[in-house]
Amino acid sequence: MDLSKFPRTKLANLPTPIEKLENLSKLFGVNMFVKRDDETGLAGGGNKVRKLEFLIGDAIAKGADTIITVGAVQSNHVRQTAAAAAKAGLKCRAVLERRIEVNNPRYEITGNVLLDHLFGTPVRYVKGGADLAAEMNKEVELVKAAGGKPYIIPGGGSNFIGALGYMQAAEELITQSKEMGVHFEEVVVTSGSSGTHAGLAAGFTALNHKARLTGISIRQKAEPQKRKVKDEVDNIASIMGFKSLTLDEILVEEDYIGEGYGILNECAKEAIVLAARHEGLILDPVYTGKAFAGMLGLIRNGTFKKGSNILFMHTGGSFALFAYENEMMEYINAIDNGEIKIVS
Ligand SMILES: *Cc1c(COP(=O)(O)O)cnc(C)c1O
Repeated sequence: MDLSKFPRTKLANLPTPIEKLENLSKLFGVNMFVKRDDETGLAGGGNKVRKLEFLIGDAIAKGADTIITVGAVQSNHVRQTAAAAAKAGLKCRAVLERRIEVNNPRYEITGNVLLDHLFGTPVRYVKGGADLAAEMNKEVELVKAAGGKPYIIPGGGSNFIGALGYMQAAEELITQSKEMGVHFEEVVVTSGSSGTHAGLAAGFTALNHKARLTGISIRQKAEPQKRKVKDEVDNIASIMGFKSLTLDEILVEEDYIGEGYGILNECAKEAIVLAARHEGLILDPVYTGKAFAGMLGLIRNGTFKKGSNILFMHTGGSFALFAYENEMMEYINAIDNGEIKIVS
């Protein structure tokens, strides 16, 4: 797989390590591993850094001087993009969508939002459900009017160029798997704006790698999410010249979303505490908490066989925990008081 023809800016520390979660493996009767894409190196890490290597590379190749992007208020993508732009010497402007109702008065100054400001990215808030493409175009016009050269990065960095980062990650994972002498039968990833899921699926397909890749949806039902991933894999396959997947070959679980995007649920809180207390591993409330809960659910219901080698893609996001501090503290206290019991 030759990605060298695509412009790329070095931002990440790669390869990210793969570690075994020894304690949770024993508790759940499987061999559980985690690929530490929460440690991609830039600005606290996370999956968007891999995408941004190609997206920022493309922006620079096109002569842009200002990145424009979009996300929910506590977007990890916006935080990583703001940092990537700073490192690459570009300006950045972000539109933040008030996608969910929250009752934490600090929600818009803590976690990722604090870091957006720290990295020097001005943010403009819009209401939930706003036409985000139109809102980004307003920023484009502002930048152009001031004589700048804008470059739009879509939400989550999920387009063909961003997905190249996860095709590369698929190749990296396969190499590591060979070096370790461990075949991961199951690979679990959060499926959101879908570039990560689609990039991995495309990478495995292009390299003819046999592993079951399961996306845990954190926003919409399985059917529309599968279509979203498939559209992206189809697009990558046609550009790169390999045979795409069928809809049935794309696996998405919808049972861990809870009430919706960015709304913490019991299973995610449980997963966050289990990972923290047994492995010292920090998950996040919006993505990886739910995805990890999905992995545990699939082990508990027998979809993932006892003794199998399972790789969890840790896509980052821990700064958002601070925007959910009240709910998390309540939950932690309930465990410590014995009101809630967790484990396998
Ligand atoms: C953006 C994000 C995801 C989802 O990745 P997509 O490519 O948007 O599907 C998962 N985890 C974290 C922490 C993220 O910030």
